[in-house]
Amino acid sequence: MIPASALHALISGNQRLLGITRRRIAASRRLLNPAFGLSGGRVSPEEDALRLSIRERLATGGLFWASGHSHMRRGTGRPCDVCGKPIGNDSLEREVIGPRNTRTAISHEACWTIWREVCRDMQRS
Ligand SMILES: [Zn+2]
Repeated sequence: MIPASALHALISGNQRLLGITRRRIAASRRLLNPAFGLSGGRVSPEEDALRLSIRERLATGGLFWASGHSHMRRGTGRPCDVCGKPIGNDSLEREVIGPRNTRTAISHEACWTIWREVCRDMQRS
């Protein structure tokens, strides 16, 4: 059973996704017609896609809410649970503890930051 507050967060998240999709459609139109030029965005298309993917996985349970404890260590070469790319030992890996200590996930530091932001945004709305 999903609590009502979580449902509201999911609905709001979906509405935001719809907004992102509409902006992407508008951006694609600009790309197709050079006369309109390119408008600068705050977020790169890659980050935008990652945020979208995080929202989808939060909604379907593929990712948990990144609100618990975490710790850092040297990368182990395993894939990041957020972006799917390996976390090499030349970078830091964050192990994130899921709700009630039932799950863990690993991520790049930058991916964890975005994951947390998406969670906060969805909880706020
Ligand atoms: Zn990553």
